[in-house]
Formats: sequence, structure tokens, C-alpha cells
Amino acid sequence: MPPDAKPKVLILGGTAEAAALAEQLVARGDVAVVTSLAGRTTSPVLPPGEVRIGGFGGAAGLAAYIREQGISRVIDATHPFARRISENAIRATAETGVPLEHLVRPGWEPVRGDRWREVGSLEEAAQALPAGATVFLALGRQYLDTFLHRTDCRFVIRMVDAPAEPLPFSNHTLILGKPSADPADEAALFARHGITHLVCRNSGGAASYGKIVAAREMGLPVIILGR
Ligand code: NAP
Repeated sequence: MPPDAKPKVLILGGTAEAAALAEQLVARGDVAVVTSLAGRTTSPVLPPGEVRIGGFGGAAGLAAYIREQGISRVIDATHPFARRISENAIRATAETGVPLEHLVRPGWEPVRGDRWREVGSLEEAAQALPAGATVFLALGRQYLDTFLHRTDCRFVIRMVDAPAEPLPFSNHTLILGKPSADPADEAALFARHGITHLVCRNSGGAASYGKIVAAREMGLPVIILGR
């Protein structure tokens, strides 16, 4: 590193918390900031600082990137259910000897009025649904197939971008958009679609808590996958 160059921090991002951290570090001005996004959505909101998009090619690819770019510190601020990238970060930083910090946002805790059933797997979540339920499935595309056999339920699925292939559910409604932090928006959506059950993961954070509050206010059962 040239003597006057700033240390370079790599933020593994894709979350509101990662973007907020990039903003803070850039504003402070004592480090150069690169945020890495997986490239899952077509028009992501870009944080300040440098942004790179796309996978690294496993832990080895990430280690190579750290070396090539002279990264001096890695901050894993990815989603708590994004396990592979977090494991890769542990391996790549161990291999390169670069310090790693992991920002883990706490999970949500049930409060009075919540009707949660906490489950340990998506299979258990699929089993827990009663026949005839109209289910808001707040899960990414890669998690939906576990629910395909529940042809006795109707699914309402929200995605940021339209899927490349039509979803293989016999009875579903696809909504394009992001979660709202405002419970009133989520409650209006649930009411419009006659939702009887919410299925989601215990992601924590404010950005997607609106649906949890909406379910509480509407008295809807929530089947929630624990960490
Ligand atoms: P994952 O299963 O842990 O990662 C799968 C692969 O995607 C990784 O092996 C890596 O590819 C690439 N990848 C993931 N995050 C990356 C990043 N920040 N920068 C560069 N490459 C990345 O993760 P996922 O559940 O698919 O989530 C992908 C991204 O979306 C994460 O960054 C996460 O923060 C964000 N996100 C996820 C969720 C969720 O529900 N899982 C929700 C909101 C946001 P290579 O092995 O090729 O490097």
C-alpha cells in the first residue's frame, strides 16, 4: 500500500445495515470503502463508496480479491440467512490473515399479540399450514419449492424482480416489489389478498418488520423460521 493510501475496507453487503455502514465510513473519510453485492436484484440501491457486483467464486475467489485489492479489513454485513458468503468470508480472511468483523443483527422477539409458531426448517413450516390457507410467503425464490406440494393452499409471493421462469405453483399470486417497513402498507396488502397466514424467516432488522407488525394487528398466525 502506498504510504499515503487509506486502508481499504470491504463490506459484504446486500442489506440496509451494510448500506448504512458504508455511508458512515465514507462520511468519516479515514478509510476507502468497497461494498460488495451479490447481484441478486437488477437495480440495487447503491451505497456510497466503491461498489462491486457479483460472486467472487467461493472462498478462494474472495481470498484472491482480498489480496489483489489490498483489502485491510472485511466486514460481513450480509443477511443473517445468507450463510454461504459468511462461511466464505471466514475462510478467506483466515487464509489471507485479514481481520473479519461480522455484523449480526439480532432476531425479532415475539411481543404481546404476536401469534408465532417458530419452526426449525422450511419443511416444518410447509407442514404447519392448515388446508385452505391463503399464505403470504415472504421468502426468496430459492426457498419456495418446499411449499410446492401444498396444492391445497393459495400462495401470495412477493419478489423484487420478476422471476426468470414462471413460478411452478398451481395456485399463486405474484407481487413485484420490496417489503415495506410501514405496517399499514403490509396490512393493506394482506387484506387485499385475503391472507390468513404469514410464513417468513426471523431476519431481524427494521426494513422487513412491517409485515410482522401488520400480522400482529390483524391477528394473523405467523410461521417463522428461527436462526
Ligand atoms: P448466500 O447463499 O450466502 O451466497 C450464495 C453466493 O452468492 C455466495 O457463495 C457468493 O458467491 C454470492 N454472494 C452472496 N453475497 C454476496 C456479496 N455480498 N457479494 C458478493 N457475492 C455474494 O447468500 P444469499 O442468501 O443468496 O444472499 C445473497 C445476497 O443477498 C447477500 O449478500 C445478502 O446479504 C443479500 N440478501 C439476502 C437475503 C436472504 O433472504 N438470504 C435477504 C436480503 C438480502 P461466490 O461463492 O461466487 O462468491
